[in-house]
Amino acid sequence: MADNSFDILIIGAGPGGYVAAIRAAQLGLKTAIVEREHLGGICLNWGCIPTKALLRSAEIFHYMKHATNYGLAAKDVSFDAAKVVERSRGVSGRLNTGVNGLLKKNKVSIIWGEAKITKPGEVVVVDTKKAIMQPQAPLPKGALGAGTYTAKHIIIATGARPRVLPGLEPDGKLVWTYFEAMVPKEMPKSLLVIGSGAIGIEFASFYNAMGVDVTVVEIMDQVMPVEDTEIAKVAQKQLEKQGLKFRLSAKVTKLDKKANNVTATIEAGGKSEQLTVDRVIAAAGVVANVENLGLEALGVKMDKGCIVIDGFGRTNAPGIYAIGDVAGPPMLAHKAEHEGVICVEKIKGLDVHSMKKEQIPGCTYCHPQVASVGLTEAKAKASGFEIKVGRFPFVGNGKAIALGEDQGLVKTIFDAKTGRLLGAHMVGAEVTELIQGFVVAMGLETTEEELIHTVFPHPTLSEMMHESVLDAYGRVIHM
Ligand code: FAD
Repeated sequence: MADNSFDILIIGAGPGGYVAAIRAAQLGLKTAIVEREHLGGICLNWGCIPTKALLRSAEIFHYMKHATNYGLAAKDVSFDAAKVVERSRGVSGRLNTGVNGLLKKNKVSIIWGEAKITKPGEVVVVDTKKAIMQPQAPLPKGALGAGTYTAKHIIIATGARPRVLPGLEPDGKLVWTYFEAMVPKEMPKSLLVIGSGAIGIEFASFYNAMGVDVTVVEIMDQVMPVEDTEIAKVAQKQLEKQGLKFRLSAKVTKLDKKANNVTATIEAGGKSEQLTVDRVIAAAGVVANVENLGLEALGVKMDKGCIVIDGFGRTNAPGIYAIGDVAGPPMLAHKAEHEGVICVEKIKGLDVHSMKKEQIPGCTYCHPQVASVGLTEAKAKASGFEIKVGRFPFVGNGKAIALGEDQGLVKTIFDAKTGRLLGAHMVGAEVTELIQGFVVAMGLETTEEELIHTVFPHPTLSEMMHESVLDAYGRVIHM
């Protein structure tokens, strides 16, 4: 096979693309990956990872300010915004280098530039023209460059970018997207966050913890609209206690920019109010990167701006596949990775299970954290299930009290007829680490019976998972 000819060529080296590339190489397929900007994609460079690094600084700052609660003393607690950002960029840089190493170790050819599918089986790569957000991750040494490449199978993993709402266009100075919000030169005094999805709430939580006066405007009638309403209400109450302000069922209709601040017009319930803030973060979701890939000419089917795929990443065009954000919601890194693995294993001819979207967990790393999998109570009822619901509050758990984190809730939803676990929802400390227990349970089609007879270690927060199941069946012990 010529050097520019591959079994699989993947466009985009985010978590979907690079994981698919490694798995393809493991399966003995000659694999190439094209990237125009940063190995690791949004996730490692401008998404999941750098936000968690910022949030970790915020968390430690929070605990230092509340040191006396633990019998400790921390005087003159302060921070250096530049160093907080520098640490976050360092974490991203380290992982970016790691992805480069993993691709090389697995003998995946890296092609640097912007890819377009010119005909089935052919991809032309040109030098990137896109303006790249700074600081840019280092370019991988020894990468192939512009040229024409062929492959039997082409996987599109081009990800997504911030959604721009008319009239609320970001300018990078006063009105930020997640890119600018990730690398503030200094802390603003006040901030308006448009949108209370995971991205909006995580930034709101970070800036609030760093002492910024934060208001969040959400068009829906609850924060984190995809989450269970009861869980979202607990999260909102805790965030409000920390000083965050929310305007729900409200819409930002206009942004008037001055030299160093912005006046937002917020409409709610037929009334209009004005709020002047130093900075705005526009966090009203993301849109898939589907442009300039040659998809129209290939007749690739789209829906709501995303590529339509089956449970194995196949589009309607033979030899063309799509995975990750570009293939639609939920737009999460672990969904992208799993889709990538399923896609290449199916190409290789392995016997694989198709994607089960209802078993993809979602996590938000605000303080308190929120995590969920499966149906919310409202969705379970709307789907016609007769349900049993269990609840267990953090205040009844010994470990939570010892940690000084006694506010939160674990909620489980079962099919009353069969005992099948339909959904699990949590808010509180470390719940993003707990949810996987319920994800495994769902994957194994566990019923209440097995969960009730599972031994949970003591003292752990995980005991609340057990108690929530017991509560659903009238057997709760510690409440
Ligand atoms: P991406 O990561 O977007 O990667 C796509 C890659 O394709 C990019 O590197 C891009 O440069 C490249 N590309 C695009 N077009 C071309 C082309 N024509 N030629 C060559 N290369 C191209 N998800 C979670 O699961 N957990 C979280 O905690 C989380 N936090 C987030 C926080 C923020 C602030 C943001 C913005 C997102 C967060 N996400 C989180 C979402 C997560 O980042 C995405 O779901 C994930 O990155 C999608 O992976 P992907 O491989 O589909 O695409």
